[in-house]
Amino acid sequence: MARIFCVANQKGGVGKTTTCVNLAAALQQAGQRTLLVDLDPQGNATMGSGIDKRALQKSVYHVLVGLATLDQARASSPSGGYDVLPANRDLAGAEVELVALERRENRLRDALKAFDADYDFVLVDCPPSLSMLTLNGLCAAHGVIIPMQCEYYALEGLSDLVNTIKKVHANLNRDLKIIGLLRVMFDPRMTLQQQVSAQLENHFADKVFRAIVPRNVRLAEAPSHGMPGVIFDKAAKGAQAYMAFATEMIERVKTL
Ligand code: ADP
Ligand code: MG
Repeated sequence: MARIFCVANQKGGVGKTTTCVNLAAALQQAGQRTLLVDLDPQGNATMGSGIDKRALQKSVYHVLVGLATLDQARASSPSGGYDVLPANRDLAGAEVELVALERRENRLRDALKAFDADYDFVLVDCPPSLSMLTLNGLCAAHGVIIPMQCEYYALEGLSDLVNTIKKVHANLNRDLKIIGLLRVMFDPRMTLQQQVSAQLENHFADKVFRAIVPRNVRLAEAPSHGMPGVIFDKAAKGAQAYMAFATEMIERVKTL
């Protein structure tokens, strides 16, 4: 059975896509059959996996509105080896179209069901909003991974996301739980970051992943080569952290 995880945070630029792409590549390298679903019309996870978003015949948009099945739209990441359900600007229109469709918040869940046996892990890269697209991600998932920077305002944004997850759990998806908070772009020289990090550990205890992803320029350079950082430079500190995170995820799913 595929374990489905949403990588979500309604803030932009917090490391969602970087986390999805690198976790997908690291899981695939560890022998886990992995699918990355790009739910962001910006298509950054698609491009970062080495797939040209401008050349797609079919994309996640077609799957969500019922014009294609997953196997007609998925592609394999040439650099990462995992599968990708890619996205591009077409997806921006889906928001409006979905509203008129039956089971509008369950479209992704329904589309994944028939291919459950193909994967060990499915990772969903959510857009920076709590929109119908993110809702489709949350309704399809067993759990949420929340990447966050250890900044003062990060905690404030977190309560909105946690409330949304609680509402989805109560009304739409009883399976949904927070798997954990992942500290990303971490700079240990910053006292404030250390303080926020300690606060997170106090407050959320074992919901905070042990792996910490440092700020690392190699992770930021990798997408321009169409490669996950863990493939582009596997010796870099950032890549090592994402590989440790993948190991932690493989352990964690055994306890779910
Ligand atoms: P989101 O998907 O939440 O908008 P991204 O993953 O696209 O965030 O990250 C935002 C920017 O920060 C990107 O340019 C990305 O390359 C960069 N970035 C992400 N994680 C790191 C990191 N650990 N170290 C350095 N740069 C990073
Ligand atoms: Mg993104």
